[in-house]
Amino acid sequence: MTDSSPRRPLMAANWKMHKTPAETAEFLARLQPLVAANREAARPCDIVVAPPFPCLPAAAAAARGTGIELAGQNMHWESHGAFTGEVSAAMLLAAGCRYVILGHSERRQYFGETDATVNRKLHAALAAGLTPIFCLGETLAQREAGETEAVLREQLERGMLGLAPAQAAVCVIAYEPVWAIGTGKTATPETAAEAHRYLRRRLALLYGEAAAAAQRILYGGSVKPDNIRGLMAQPDIDGALVGGASLDPQAFAALVNF
Ligand code: PEP
Repeated sequence: MTDSSPRRPLMAANWKMHKTPAETAEFLARLQPLVAANREAARPCDIVVAPPFPCLPAAAAAARGTGIELAGQNMHWESHGAFTGEVSAAMLLAAGCRYVILGHSERRQYFGETDATVNRKLHAALAAGLTPIFCLGETLAQREAGETEAVLREQLERGMLGLAPAQAAVCVIAYEPVWAIGTGKTATPETAAEAHRYLRRRLALLYGEAAAAAQRILYGGSVKPDNIRGLMAQPDIDGALVGGASLDPQAFAALVNF
C-alpha cells in the first residue's frame, strides 16, 4: 500500500495493569525483530508502548535506539505536591516517555475523571512537552440513544478547551467506543470511520480545515490482527490504541506490520 494520507500511522500498546519490569524487557526484546522492517515499510508506523509506571525504566532501557517510543498511562496536572499515587508530566518525561494516554474510559469510569480534569491534564502534558493521546468515546447506552455525536462533540470540545491551535495540533486523538473496549466487539470499519469523520469535521470547525486534515485520530476497541487491515483501509483512521492484543509481541507486531 502506498501512503496517500498526510498522516503517519501510529500503533499504541496500552498494557493497563499488566506485566512486570522483567516481562516488559522480554516483550520489547521479542517485539523489536518483529517490527524491524517497519522503518522501510511503504507506510511506516510510529510505535508506542504504554507500560505500567514501575516498568518504565526497564522499557526505556530495552527500547533505546529502537525507534519504539514510550507513553505513560495517566498523569496528574500538577507538577508536584501531596497527591499520593500520582505522577507528573516531568516525571514521565524523565522516565523516557514522549507520550501520555489521557482520558481513557477506564480512568473516566473507575477513577472519576471528567472532561474538566482531562482538560487540565492535556494543558499540563502539552506545557511539559509530552504528546497526549487523548481518548474519548460513547457508551453503548449513549449510542443506542442516538447520542454518539453529541457525546463526542462534548468530550472533544471540553477536553481541548483553551488549547492554542499549535497545542491542539500536537495531540493524538483516540476514538474508543466504550462498548468495544475489552469486549471483543470491534466497531465495524464503517462505524469507526463515521465517528472519525465526525471528529475531523468538529476539529475543522475548531482549528481549521488544514489542522483537521493533519490531526491523527486512532481507533481503539478490540483491535486484533484479523481486523486491523479493514480499519486501516479507512482513510480517516490513522492507527490504533490497543489493549488486549498489545500484550503479545507477535500480535502487536502484526498490527504494526498491517
Ligand atoms: C484500550 O485499552 O484502549 C483498548 C482499546 O483495549 P482493547 O484493545 O482490549 O479493547
